[in-house]
Amino acid sequence: MKLTIHGYSTALYATWYYVEELGILFDAGDGVCANLLGKAGKIKHAFISHADRDHLTGLLQFNQLFAGLKPTIYYPKDSGSFPFLKDFFTKFDPHNTGTNWQEIEDKSIIATKNTIQVEAIENGHVVQPGLLKSLSFKVYETKQKLKSEFVNLQKDELIKIKKEHGDHFLTNVVKRNILSYSADTPIENYARYHNSEILIHEATFLTKNETNTKSWKNKHSSLDEVFKMVANINIDKLILGHFSSRYDQHEIDKEIKKHIQHYNIKIPVHRIPVGKAVKNILAQTPIN
Ligand SMILES: [Zn+2]
Repeated sequence: MKLTIHGYSTALYATWYYVEELGILFDAGDGVCANLLGKAGKIKHAFISHADRDHLTGLLQFNQLFAGLKPTIYYPKDSGSFPFLKDFFTKFDPHNTGTNWQEIEDKSIIATKNTIQVEAIENGHVVQPGLLKSLSFKVYETKQKLKSEFVNLQKDELIKIKKEHGDHFLTNVVKRNILSYSADTPIENYARYHNSEILIHEATFLTKNETNTKSWKNKHSSLDEVFKMVANINIDKLILGHFSSRYDQHEIDKEIKKHIQHYNIKIPVHRIPVGKAVKNILAQTPIN
């Protein structure tokens, strides 16, 4: 499935990614509705990774405009901010009802369509022992695929076998990880995104040294660490975002190109420029 992904992601200010074909929004920082306009009405499922304000303030406007279309907002089960928001929205915009607020747990699997499932995975961005506060997400597509021994049969023969033995005799279920979204997180586990067709990963800082900055209370990734991981796993496309606005765009791009060359990265690499929304990210010219 070809995915049309729109997004904005600058650390501290706002992050959101909308996947048109799936009707799925990942995070809801400022500007979701202002950028997507009517397309935002097609959001059926909004997965919010954690309660940092740059990931949720777009929900106020989204709820006001589109609650009537009965979207579901999913959030980590121990993030107290979301029940507060629900309560506030209910009082602030009392006639805009319909939004479904759903807490989710680590390893929750949500079927958003017959063939599409979203898995929530706890990450180490917000660490509070025993409490689930921050999530990454993986999207899977399942398809029924004709077993190899039947591919050369004629249609009427297949129908006959199907009548005799049922659907599942003919097909295998093939499950693919079509998209993964790290959200805000340190690099923890290379296996997590191995075989993701598209990976959207944060790279708040350019170098690992900077990730220890005391003024950032929650943990983030750096560009050098992300590339080290990408060089060691199999993915088809990479989208980098959540860069800190402390960096000049030329500096970021120079570093990205340096890592692409160093690790001999062959897959297309896209990046969300600081302070800019990008339409159909994968249709843009990659940086390499
Ligand atoms: Zn953030």
